[in-house]
Amino acid sequence: MNTKGILFDIQRFSINDGPGIRTTLFFKGCSLRCKWCHNPESISPKIQLNYNPKKCILCGRCVGYVKGHGIKISNGKLKIDFNKHEQNFKLIDICPMKAYGKYGKEYKIDELLEIILKDKDYYDNSSGGVTFSGGEAINQIDFLCKLGLKLKKMGIHICLDISGYDPKNNIEKTLNFVDEYLLDYKLSEQRKFKDCIGKKFDFNKVIQILDKNNKSVILRCPIIPTVNDTEKHFKAICDISNKYNNIRYVDILPYHNMVKNYKFKHINAHTRYRVPSDEGKDRWKKILKKNGLVNGIIENERI
Ligand code: SF4
Repeated sequence: MNTKGILFDIQRFSINDGPGIRTTLFFKGCSLRCKWCHNPESISPKIQLNYNPKKCILCGRCVGYVKGHGIKISNGKLKIDFNKHEQNFKLIDICPMKAYGKYGKEYKIDELLEIILKDKDYYDNSSGGVTFSGGEAINQIDFLCKLGLKLKKMGIHICLDISGYDPKNNIEKTLNFVDEYLLDYKLSEQRKFKDCIGKKFDFNKVIQILDKNNKSVILRCPIIPTVNDTEKHFKAICDISNKYNNIRYVDILPYHNMVKNYKFKHINAHTRYRVPSDEGKDRWKKILKKNGLVNGIIENERI
């Protein structure tokens, strides 16, 4: 049983990851490779070196430290071979400007409880709680269950963000402590799965398990122009939300590119897409209404 979990972020006072005021824990490690991922630092399950060029003054101290192997200054920029240095955390101490850091940190259960419980009054007064997000939190299933059950015993409301990709049947292990699932619905056309998210899987399997167990679901639908902003996909969203009574509402998430560029220096999977216009979003709303969407929101507004 893993007694430590690896997280890459903790957001207190979060209001977009389930009901009320919440603390969102972002777990490291994801099995998918969504081309539009805005948390690429979540993909690897390991703690990784990061580098922020905005802090770097090109003093060359790190280049000297590695004797030029895998780090060099070229055309006024620092070039780092992350295949060589992803785990070279000594660089963090070498840099006088703190340009190096880490993606990810190990936590014990008690350390997380201490952080989470600081805001218990806010959860109680806003019907909020804790959300497990990522990455894919179920990839660290032992740690997740241990923490989840402790929080459950304390009466804290728990949400779990899932992609629907669950080859090890880990979802079933979370049913006894998760109150509400934030289930992603990214694609309705199987032929796009491999190319756009890296894996093929049956989305219906997970939603059926949650439905059978009367688990409340918020269906989260990232909409990426040229990938899934099609009439066919919007109709599929409506069909699913009308079919399953356990879906509390559909959350339409328009693609955005508010991502720090340096995050992608050592992650190749990301592709930039066009940010949808207001007119484009109005078109989506019309299609959703036409196809009978009952409970839907987009950017916190009812559709
Ligand atoms: S030591 Fe720090 S500031 Fe100097 S070149 Fe390396 S990253 Fe930049």
